[in-house]
Parts: sequence; C-alpha cells; structure tokens
Amino acid sequence: MNETRERLRIAVQKSGRLSQDSLGLLRRAGLAFRESRDKLFLYGENMPVDVLLVRDDDIPGLLVEGSCELGIVGRNVLDEQRLAAGDTPFPAELRALGFGQCRLALAVPDGGPIDKIADLAGLRIATSYPELTARWLREQGIEADVVVLNGSVEIAPRLGKAHAICDLVSSGATLAANQLHELDTVLRSEAVLVASPRTQGAAATALIERFCARIGAALSGDGVRLLMLQAPRSALAAITRLLPAREEPSVLGLDGRPDDIAVQALCDAKLDWQHLEELKRLGARGLMVLNVERMLA
Ligand code: ATP
Ligand code: ZN
Repeated sequence: MNETRERLRIAVQKSGRLSQDSLGLLRRAGLAFRESRDKLFLYGENMPVDVLLVRDDDIPGLLVEGSCELGIVGRNVLDEQRLAAGDTPFPAELRALGFGQCRLALAVPDGGPIDKIADLAGLRIATSYPELTARWLREQGIEADVVVLNGSVEIAPRLGKAHAICDLVSSGATLAANQLHELDTVLRSEAVLVASPRTQGAAATALIERFCARIGAALSGDGVRLLMLQAPRSALAAITRLLPAREEPSVLGLDGRPDDIAVQALCDAKLDWQHLEELKRLGARGLMVLNVERMLA
C-alpha cells in the first residue's frame, strides 16, 4: 500500500487446489467482491481489500516486490522460494489456515534396494523442490544428487531418471499407484497467510491488523458448535461432564420454573448424535445445535 493506492492487495491462487478454500475463507471473513472482466482481479466491495488471482508460484515474488501486501500460498512453495532467495527480505508466515494440507515426502520404489535414509547416499533424487530436498539431505548428513523435474516426478524412478523422489503427498494414493512408498517426511505443509516485507505506514498496518482479526474470527468458528438445551437443574453436573465443551457452559434460570435450567455450551466437532441421545436420557429437552460462523473474544 502506498500514497496512490489506499487499498490492500491479497494474492490468491487463480485456479488450483487452494483457490476455492482461499476465496471461501475471505468470504467467511465477511469480504464481498466484484469480479473484473478479465477475471484476474476481485474488487473488494465492503472493505478496501482487493484480490489478485495468480499462479501460486508467483505469490511470494509479488509480495517481495511489494505489488501485494498479503497472500495465501502453500508453505511448501513459500519455504522453497525462501531458501532460494537467500538473504533477500522475504514474506513472513502470519498464520496457518487449516486447508491445503499435504506433506513433502521422500519416497522410494517398493521392493527396491533402498529401505532406510542412509541408503540414499550417492543416489539420484528427483523433485520440484530442490532447495527443501537439499536442506533435508544436509540435515540427514547424506550426500546425494538432486535433479529438478517440473511435473510427473512420480514416474522418474520407472523411467530410470532417479532412484528416489521428493514430492507432495496428501493421501498417498498417487505414490501407491506408482509402486512407491514413503521413507520420511521432509515438510508438513498447508495453506498459510503471508505478509510482504515491504509494507510501510500506519494506515496499511492498521488495515492488515483489521483484516487478520477478521480471518482469525472466521477460522475460530471452524468446527465449533453452539449447543442449547433445557434440563432439570439436578442433571446439570452430569450434563457438564458429558459435553465436549470448550469452556464452562452458561447456565440460565427459567422464569417460574425453579427446578429447570437453560444451558448454552460451545462444543468442538466431537459433539455427535450419541451425546445428544445421552443428553435426552438425562432429561434434556429442546436440544438445538448451531454451527458457529465466527467468534470474537
Ligand atoms: P498453479 O497453476 O497455480 O501453478 P499448481 O499446479 O502449481 O498450480 P496445485 O496442484 O493447484 O498447484 O497445488 C497448489 C498447492 O496445493 C500446493 O502447492 C500444495 O501447497 C497444496 N496441495 C495440497 N494437497 C496437494 C497434493 N496432493 N498435491 C499437490 N499439492 C497439494
Ligand atoms: Zn504452481
């Protein structure tokens, strides 16, 4: 943000695994957007925050040069580019966002000669993440050759291009389909919110803080449910013991019914049908479970 542009720009993947969840999170944080005709830009209608839709690999660079103040990108991409950038000021990870989970894993052919990390010494490893792979090798004290492949890394061993690979995995199905199995995890990744090292000025900082508070509130509602019920006062202790509550439930008296109470409890995702049936057995009535959209402390 500078004197001529009093709005924040956030870079988001245009089309790919992170796109929908990224835009979904911004909407849950209360931002509404109007799409530009070329579909590369979303204009923020109710907050001075616009979205730039780009390839995920371009996101750290846009923040380094100051074209955008914020971005949502996989930690795998961020850390790979951070290592490549050396001492250049680089975007900082503000917070993890809880989607896009995957891991960068070292994998080897099933039934082959490699069954422990030390066996990799002197061999060739194919990857699209040479910096992270080289760092992991250094940490393990192993010397091996890293060959860079962009795409179809998992077929490199069968083509005789490499003995092992270092690639992104989520379920492991792609590895299994290519007769490979994991030897070690190199990096645990998920989508993260990142900030440009170039942002200056109190107005920009205040706006980023406001934006981050919105994101925090939207994320804090994830998986949280509000349970409301009425019950005999005598059942309160048993109900409290039963609930997967995040904090002490609120207990309210009911006018003209001294033996009854109303209970409100914030519960985590573990709250299920069995809890509700158990509550009914304890005498609870009028049970209601609501998904929590956002929370402010
Ligand atoms: P772009 O066209 O934007 O360059 P891409 O093909 O590089 O897209 P995607 O495949 O959409 O990228 O993946 C984007 C990010 O999603 C990855 O960098 C990673 O952080 C995350 N991700 C989650 N699960 C997986 C997975 N199984 N394989 C690859 N990436 C995954
Ligand atoms: Zn990419």
